[in-house]
Amino acid sequence: MALVTEYFGSLAFDETAMKKYLPRETYDSLKKTIDEGKHLEIEIANVVASAMKDWAISKGCTHYTHWFQPLTGITAEKHDSFISPVGDGKIIMEFSGKELVRGEPDASSFPSGGLRATFEARGYTAWDPTSYAFIKDKTLCIPTAFCSYGGEALDKKTPLLRSMEAINVQAMRILKLFDPNTDVACIRTSVGPEQEYFLVPKEMYDQRRDLIFTGRTLFGAKPPKGQELEDHYFGTIKPQVDAFMKELDEELWKLGILAKTEHNEAAPSQHELAPIYTQANIATDHNQLTMEIMQKVAKRHGLVCLLHEKPFAGVSGSGKHNNWSITTNTGVNLLKPGKTPYDNAQFLLFLCAVIKAVDEYQDLIRISAATAGNDHRLGADEAPPAVISMFLGDELSAIITALETNTHYDPMEKTQLQLGVDVLPPLPKDNTDRNRTSPFAFTGNKFEFRMVGASNSIGDCNTFLNTAVAESLRQFADILEGADDFKTALNKLIRETIKRHKRIIFNGNSYDDAWIKEATEERGLLNLKTTPEALGEFLAPKNIKLFTTHHVYTKTEMKSRYEITLGNYCKTIRIEANVMVDMVYKEILPAVTSYVKEICEAGNAKKALSVSIPAFYEETMASRLGKIGSDIFERVAALEDAIHNSPSKGDVTALAFHIKDKVIPAMKTLRASCDEAEYLTAEKYWPYPTYASLLFGLQ
Ligand code: ADP
Ligand code: MG
Repeated sequence: MALVTEYFGSLAFDETAMKKYLPRETYDSLKKTIDEGKHLEIEIANVVASAMKDWAISKGCTHYTHWFQPLTGITAEKHDSFISPVGDGKIIMEFSGKELVRGEPDASSFPSGGLRATFEARGYTAWDPTSYAFIKDKTLCIPTAFCSYGGEALDKKTPLLRSMEAINVQAMRILKLFDPNTDVACIRTSVGPEQEYFLVPKEMYDQRRDLIFTGRTLFGAKPPKGQELEDHYFGTIKPQVDAFMKELDEELWKLGILAKTEHNEAAPSQHELAPIYTQANIATDHNQLTMEIMQKVAKRHGLVCLLHEKPFAGVSGSGKHNNWSITTNTGVNLLKPGKTPYDNAQFLLFLCAVIKAVDEYQDLIRISAATAGNDHRLGADEAPPAVISMFLGDELSAIITALETNTHYDPMEKTQLQLGVDVLPPLPKDNTDRNRTSPFAFTGNKFEFRMVGASNSIGDCNTFLNTAVAESLRQFADILEGADDFKTALNKLIRETIKRHKRIIFNGNSYDDAWIKEATEERGLLNLKTTPEALGEFLAPKNIKLFTTHHVYTKTEMKSRYEITLGNYCKTIRIEANVMVDMVYKEILPAVTSYVKEICEAGNAKKALSVSIPAFYEETMASRLGKIGSDIFERVAALEDAIHNSPSKGDVTALAFHIKDKVIPAMKTLRASCDEAEYLTAEKYWPYPTYASLLFGLQ
């Protein structure tokens, strides 16, 4: 078998391929575009396109596609072949710079939230040269941004790229204040998303309409054994899963995706994949690809990979841990505590920028993880609550307090902290007191945002976070650039920022009810429990101001995103509700009735033979199940009512609240009766595989 070092990145048009296929000058121009965002001339694009085509053909490709991330949250592509007729029934394989830099997918059916009137339905895709082209299914895939003709973003990538530029501009202002001769040319946000998922046997998946149509189980009685023994986490990996993980790693490595660790997670059949971090937009592309390839590889192993946030009730859900930091092009992590007072002052200022951003834009951070699927997870006891807070750890918190109150940090040494004057004590490198309950935790040299759902794109959370931090840095730079004495102004700024925003810092157990009470009642933090409630804050004037100031979204783009996000929420739940109704009438009620019939017949047979044979069990069971059957029948009708009495589709806000307040509760009560019926019914009558077989069915 080939060595990993040899095939790593073999399906990506990366540095190695570029160097091999591009003339020197073209390579240099392209590098300038990639590293510094310089405009790329069409002549250069022509050369790049032709080289990409030669490279792709050498790997067996016949087609190319502009690969993009519309607001549905998944990826989209439209394939074109390279062939071009040259007369006499002959063809050549061609790919021009124009085709590389711009595409026109027929995009009328992608959601635009009213941005694109149907008559100008075509949006266009624009090449993102900072993310390498790659090969998937013998097709050359070109990562692109997707916009309307009016220039409005119709995807998740364009705003992310804009937010990266926003934070770059503001962070550079700060770095220049600390060192006017800095050799840093730009900063980038780095992201490493840890991806959780479930694997279930395909033959069982195929028997469950809920999994097929919605990606999660809508019914299912609690199995006799769940995850209470915690024997799965970091346990031995089963051979079937091991084979899947090995092939997944290989496929990802070929694409140049830095898959690093694979292990079991808390729930039975739950696993995690962590890549090595990379620049935010590339990490986002890679995460989308990872999700796609996970699902594809699973099928080859007789498995189905579930990326839903809550595939099983009563069992841990799946999330994504978005590890985030700020790195200079010279390789310095600005969120890494330094060794000298000078480094530490800069570190603390960036830390304060994040503290301020997360406090002021808690609503946006929460919204970035708001989906129908994730609503089952946030606030349940295995996931962070819907309240945003920040974990800094005891030591860093003590330093922050000392700075705020101008008091001694180390009572033994009686040193007074003066930024930029004294050497700060070495800051914690490794947070041994790791807090797993915090939604936003500092983990030594990066922040880990744990709320994102497993199937979500990480585009939004990084866009929002970058922009919010860019705004803190902008305000800081305005103050510091105008200061008479930098050091005095810096000390004052840090102190005031801590004072004003420390309410967001919480090092305790975020799963604790007492915390939710303290957070909301004493600290005034937001508790936006559901997607409709969270989205209600999106268009607040302060948020519109934030995004428009930094040119990340226009007001129109924000409105369209609001509509699309809530629209997706409504559609998701309506589909789930319809699938429930379908399963109840076609599968569950017939199963219950057949079983009741069998019991009744057995009871009758006993009585017919002799009145002295006890038929107590049959009578009790038949009447109990008969009663549950009636409940199911009533409750399914109530759910149908809730679905059909929805407010008009034109008002997506009203519809979303109707769904949250009427449809979801009706689904819950219906499920409760059905699960009770499953619990009592003989297995051979039950129409779909149980939780026990789904969760423990793998070899
Ligand atoms: P932890 O033990 O804190 O979870 P790991 O080293 O296992 O840390 O990393 C978890 C994830 O965080 C990985 O995807 C890793 O690449 C990513 N990561 C590490 N350092 C950074 C950083 N500076 N910026 C962004 N992500 C990072
Ligand atoms: Mg982690």
